[in-house]
Amino acid sequence: MPELPEVETVANTLRPLIQNAIITNVWTSNLRMRSQLSEIDKQLLLGKKIYGVSRTGKYLILELFEWYLLIHFGMSGRLIVAKNLQEKEYITKSLNHIHMYLNFSNKFVLLHDPRRFGGVRMISRINIKTPADLSALLNLGLEPLSDRFCANRLFKMTRGVTRNIKIFLMDGKQIAGVGNIYATEALFRAGIIPTIACFKLSISKCSQLVACLKTVLSNAISKGGSSLRDFSGLEGERGSFVDEHLIYGKKESCVICNTELVKKTIGQRATTFCPRCQR
Ligand SMILES: [Zn+2]
Repeated sequence: MPELPEVETVANTLRPLIQNAIITNVWTSNLRMRSQLSEIDKQLLLGKKIYGVSRTGKYLILELFEWYLLIHFGMSGRLIVAKNLQEKEYITKSLNHIHMYLNFSNKFVLLHDPRRFGGVRMISRINIKTPADLSALLNLGLEPLSDRFCANRLFKMTRGVTRNIKIFLMDGKQIAGVGNIYATEALFRAGIIPTIACFKLSISKCSQLVACLKTVLSNAISKGGSSLRDFSGLEGERGSFVDEHLIYGKKESCVICNTELVKKTIGQRATTFCPRCQR
């Protein structure tokens, strides 16, 4: 599932391609997604200009004058850019799961989503002036790369919370955009065991965790995200942060102390940790 760095990577690569471009056509498949554009939405989008491309949580935002067009990638969604009609025809013929495309005169942006957990929706900008204001409406938690996410804040947020820190980090209503990969990596780097109850984290542990999460996310953005099964960039390129994973997806022993890693299911997600380095 694409997490914050992967969606940020998509926003960064899509921006120069469609900023200031005009939507000339919109197409959707008849198959059900978590949410999809209506016929009215599609009419509203015609002739509209893209003023910006950004991200909040795991949502990609196309900024129009009166609307935000939001794309969520669910489990397996990704965007593919076709540079001309021939390329678009070739992609739609060779891939079965294109569920939406936007046409910008010669260019096409196609949404490919085999599992259809993703969605597309429009939100009026009347009461929402900036993309950052969308987070309240979407019920998203703190942006982990913002200054508001700091040790004191995490310490306060976790008081009285008995569930474990791994599940807390992956709860988008608390912290936006963090999934299994970056929660697992941040906890390893901070030396915190994923099963610890949140309220047991000291202020210094909170401080380590905040720092490690920010570092892991920013490094991943600079490397174009982590490509595993589900994510690749707009032209199929792979994100290279996967080469810097210290623990996610590893089976052998700990890179620091050589102890055998432990694999456990936490909140239905596979979690790997080092029983010696993480306490
Ligand atoms: Zn270790």
